[in-house]
Formats: sequence, C-alpha cells, structure tokens
Amino acid sequence: MEIDNTKNSSDKTVSASGDSDLIQVRAIISCSNCGYKKKFRNQFPRKDLELLTVAVKVFEWMVCDKCGDLLKLDLEFQV
Ligand SMILES: [Zn+2]
Repeated sequence: MEIDNTKNSSDKTVSASGDSDLIQVRAIISCSNCGYKKKFRNQFPRKDLELLTVAVKVFEWMVCDKCGDLLKLDLEFQV
C-alpha cells in the first residue's frame, strides 16, 4: 500500500516590500474661532497604527493658544 504524500505546500508569498507599508498622516489642527492653524506630518508603519491613536488622543483636548477655544482636528491619510 502506498500513501500518496502530496504535500499541500501553502506557499506564503508575502511581498515584504519594506517601506511601502508606511502610512503618511497629516494632522491639521485649526481654531474656528480665531483662525489659528497648525499642521503636523507624521508617518506610521501599518502595524503600529495604534501609535496614531495615542497621538490623536493628545490632540483631543488641545485648546487654542490664542483664544482658548477647543481646536478642530482633521486627519489626512496618504496610503
Ligand atoms: Zn483660537
């Protein structure tokens, strides 16, 4: 009796193309009250996207330097 040992080789072809996994994030904080505006740019590896969540948490309670109004946060992603 012969056992057909057909290897079901699951070829994992992971295209590890290094830096292409980075997500560019642009954060624009602005004050609708006095027009104050500031831009930040950062990039995160896709797997570390939770770092972004931490960064956004910081922005959440930011208030305007000039008038003390709560700042508006816009995020732009460039994948
Ligand atoms: Zn302001």
